[in-house]
Amino acid sequence: MKANCWMGRNTVEVREVPDPRILNSRDAIVRVTSTAICGSDLHLYDGYIPTMKKGDILGHEFMGEVVEVGPKVSTLRVGDRVVVPFPIACGNCVACTHGLYSVCENSNPNAGLAEKLMGHSPAGIFGYSHMLGGYPGGQAEYARVPFADVGPIKIENGLTDEQVLFLSDILPTGWMGAEMCDIKPGDVIAVWGAGPVGQFAIASAFLMGAEKVISIDRFPYRLKRAERAGAQTLNYEEVDVLDALRDITAGRGPDGCIDAVGMEAHHPAGVVHAYDRVKQATRMETERPHALREAIMSCRNGGTVSVIGVYGGLLDKFPMGSLMNRSLTLRSGQCHVQRYLKPLLKKIRNGDIDPSSVVSHRMRLEDAPRGYEMFKNKENECNKIVLTP
Ligand SMILES: [Zn+2]
Ligand SMILES: [Zn+2]
Repeated sequence: MKANCWMGRNTVEVREVPDPRILNSRDAIVRVTSTAICGSDLHLYDGYIPTMKKGDILGHEFMGEVVEVGPKVSTLRVGDRVVVPFPIACGNCVACTHGLYSVCENSNPNAGLAEKLMGHSPAGIFGYSHMLGGYPGGQAEYARVPFADVGPIKIENGLTDEQVLFLSDILPTGWMGAEMCDIKPGDVIAVWGAGPVGQFAIASAFLMGAEKVISIDRFPYRLKRAERAGAQTLNYEEVDVLDALRDITAGRGPDGCIDAVGMEAHHPAGVVHAYDRVKQATRMETERPHALREAIMSCRNGGTVSVIGVYGGLLDKFPMGSLMNRSLTLRSGQCHVQRYLKPLLKKIRNGDIDPSSVVSHRMRLEDAPRGYEMFKNKENECNKIVLTP
């Protein structure tokens, strides 16, 4: 089959690779009909997530048709149309039974690698480094889905791929980002990053009763999308974000601050940015956590900072004093996608939310290398790319 493979820093290549096979009794094989490139794939592309190997198949957002099931998968049949959540979860361990699917205790065969860096291991993730399981991803013609009786959700009615594909990651991730802010009617929520996850966080915050949502980014086309979703926008290349948020909230700061940016935050040139670049280049710091620092500093006393942007390891100049002295709550996590599949599918069906609106480009799987470059450089107002094998 054809698959999009990581070949080194800033290089992906669509190559011929062996078809996946059923390895365990709870596996299924899915023929991929649609897959997407995620902002967090860029952290792999840029070489900031450790333990990638040449030839690894990328992609953790995919859906398709079940073509084979293992003997212990009774919930799916050949021919079923499914969306596959990006965290791989067994459904039986302590984490899974508490709904904490993205920290499943049984799905990362390389847990030891993750433990060295993080203390304990999170779940395995499709196409997201060997530290997170070394699972071949879904930017391919076929994918093996472990624990197929737990993760995939069946799509039974006439919804299009683009309406449901983002249940695999970015829609529930944006939703969980807003949910972690515990939004009360009248709340003001600020969202760093107006990419697709930020856009879904904005829509979710409004659905949860936020009175005002402020979107922070620097690309006018993304800010325009945020504006269309009802958000007030701040271009951080034009205004001082902390000052602006103080002004908008009568000096108090937003009730909830969502970091939908993660480890490669851009920053207008400055001393702290230069410091991060040097430390990151010399591998003394894995992150450039500018958005996170700003989210903490601007949050109102007693408010919540919700981190859904992806981080890889260690960061510097973390404003712990601000967090502690001002009674902030810091919440974070890779999305527990499985938890949100049914309720969010219902919202899509009811028309409360239209995930397909984030798609800006459609390409063939073969064009993935061009897609990665375009998405990385934000060319052609690239917001979200869907690939079709
Ligand atoms: Zn993703
Ligand atoms: Zn589990």
